[in-house]
Amino acid sequence: MRIITHTCTECGTVVSANELEANRVMKCPGLDCENVLRFADLPQEERQFFLEHAEQYEL
Ligand SMILES: [Zn+2]
Repeated sequence: MRIITHTCTECGTVVSANELEANRVMKCPGLDCENVLRFADLPQEERQFFLEHAEQYEL
């Protein structure tokens, strides 16, 4: 399975697409990081892929 993740531009914390998709907008889980991460920050191609295969990502 292809792993889709987003890396925080501020602190480098890696967040899975599942988490982003579930929350849409979330505060970065990184320690002392106030950056806000959005599902929409993922490249269009990765969002598309994730949505088309969403059932594979449900744990
Ligand atoms: Zn961060």
